[in-house]
Amino acid sequence: MPNQQFDAIVVGAGFAGHYLLHLLRGEGLAVKGIERGDGVGGTWYWNRYPGCRCDVESIDYSYQFSDPLQQEWVWSERYSAQPEILAYSNHVADRFGLRPLIQFDTSVIKADYNESTQRWWVHTSQGKIYDTRFLIMATGCLSTTNTPAFPGLDTFAGRTFHTGQWPQNGVDFTGRRVGIIGTGSSAIQSIPIIAAEAKDLTVFQRTANFSVPAQNRPSDPAEVARVKANYAEYRQRAAQQSAAFGPDQPRNFDSALAASPEDRQRRFEAHWQLGGFMYLAAYGDLMLNEDANRLASDFVRSKIRQIVKDPATAELLSPKGIIGCKRLCADSGYFEAYNRDNVQLVDISQQPIERLTKTGLVTGGKAYTFDDIVFATGFDAMTGSLLRMDIRGKGGRSLNDKWAAGPLTYLGLMIEGFPNLFTMTGPGSPSVLANMVTGVEQHAEYIRDLIQWIRKEKASAVEAAPAAENDWVAAVNVRSQLTLYPRCNSWYLGANVPGKPRVFMPYIGFPDYTNKLHGVREAQFAGFELQR
Ligand code: FAD
Ligand code: NAP
Repeated sequence: MPNQQFDAIVVGAGFAGHYLLHLLRGEGLAVKGIERGDGVGGTWYWNRYPGCRCDVESIDYSYQFSDPLQQEWVWSERYSAQPEILAYSNHVADRFGLRPLIQFDTSVIKADYNESTQRWWVHTSQGKIYDTRFLIMATGCLSTTNTPAFPGLDTFAGRTFHTGQWPQNGVDFTGRRVGIIGTGSSAIQSIPIIAAEAKDLTVFQRTANFSVPAQNRPSDPAEVARVKANYAEYRQRAAQQSAAFGPDQPRNFDSALAASPEDRQRRFEAHWQLGGFMYLAAYGDLMLNEDANRLASDFVRSKIRQIVKDPATAELLSPKGIIGCKRLCADSGYFEAYNRDNVQLVDISQQPIERLTKTGLVTGGKAYTFDDIVFATGFDAMTGSLLRMDIRGKGGRSLNDKWAAGPLTYLGLMIEGFPNLFTMTGPGSPSVLANMVTGVEQHAEYIRDLIQWIRKEKASAVEAAPAAENDWVAAVNVRSQLTLYPRCNSWYLGANVPGKPRVFMPYIGFPDYTNKLHGVREAQFAGFELQR
């Protein structure tokens, strides 16, 4: 029998969980948060690896729901580092009195929907059961780490770390022989710093990755004052950008193919100097046309050759595929790190890691000896955290069963057969392809509005209609096919986790998605069905 009853349970205490708790408490609901970590911050609680920072500018990557909050908080850098973002999350939790609502050190392991009571029973790792009317999964898109099942994983006698579960007190690599597996964003941020500390660092690269310098720098007080003078208007313009950030950054919509080689070179150089994602705003067709994309990737390859002194290493570091297809990395001295004498790159594209051993690992028939191994091997993204819980909807049907061939949602918010269960930034929403703080605010407010609607209509539950869900899944898929995104082995497609269904999960284009949400609301929440 349940230990306690609530109106709403919010699982996860990252940016999404915070804002939901704040909004739902404001509705007068008895609301509880459950978080498996021992503190708030979500992503920024877990990812404490050296060099971790945001790749969307802090002026954008922050809440807008409270003007006093956005006015008073001062970011020290253009792209703030993890400790500062975690401090911000703690500040928000305290400023809005959220901490007492959250039960920490507790995982939700199971959730069952009872059709007769139209309520959920939520089972926790502490052996407690909570009964709730609304269940909201603010469990994150990048919150379940992926550690490949290398043979001999447990035999290594040294220290191992995953970037996404980094020790709270940091790691001292001084004088150590370190191996790092992976060359995604987490590796690209941490490699220059680990390299400067360790005795030597060996990087195991399966696929070379595109990275553009972040061009990080201290915040410019004049620029910040300009934005803060009219932050609401700035945020409105940001929401009209395809990824909901950077409204004042130069964006071009012309074709790279139409430009002369000299103009292209100048434009690519200018956008390289802007840094990070803004590189892809050099032309309008870079994510639509493979020939245009190749021009942009050729430019990056030429930069790698200029930066990396050893031609063989430069060649290995030069990605072959489509730039932007996997999330573009934003670095601070990544390629430069390979000019250090204590850094070596090992290509494992043809010869995978065979096994871990007591002293290190073996690949290509060669044994490497380490004191420490870092797994920068990413996440079971978007669906991982949801499917790790045993969620059962109407008729006892499990979410794992329903999503066996890939995630099915209506607007990334609800799932047919799972009434009163909401997914924050779920698959089928812009989520990871947009500024996620803006995305979570949008979803939190929409879920609040749906709950208000249910209560106003004196209904007991709401559920996605089957046809609405089918149409939406098809729309998400069609949209991705118009772009180059599905053409590489990215985690957007689930390709990084063996056996995961290969389905493009996020919805491309924040403004169109926002329009869709408005349209649905105007049409009396069309596609959502009330139950009485
Ligand atoms: P999270 O922050 O992931 O929080 C989810 C929480 O749910 C976690 O604390 C987790 O412990 C908890 N949880 C999960 N399952 C359970 C369970 N079963 N029981 C209890 N608790 C559970 N996005 C951007 O837009 N810009 C960036 O610059 C950016 N940088 C990033 C850098 C890194 C290193 C990573 C990994 C991601 C980055 N992201 C970025 C994406 C980032 O995840 C989001 O921006 C945002 O922090 C997500 O907030 P959230 O609250 O939705 O999820
Ligand atoms: P990731 O991008 O998925 O990179 C994982 C790396 O591990 C890849 O290089 C991958 O190689 C490699 N790998 C995985 N399995 C392997 C195996 N069995 N053998 C060898 N190599 C293997 O993960 P991430 O770097 O943690 O980043 C995930 C996402 O988090 C990012 O895309 C981004 O959205 C977010 N993030 C953002 C920032 C930021 O700058 N703000 C920083 C970190 C993370 P393949 O490419 O061959 O699969």
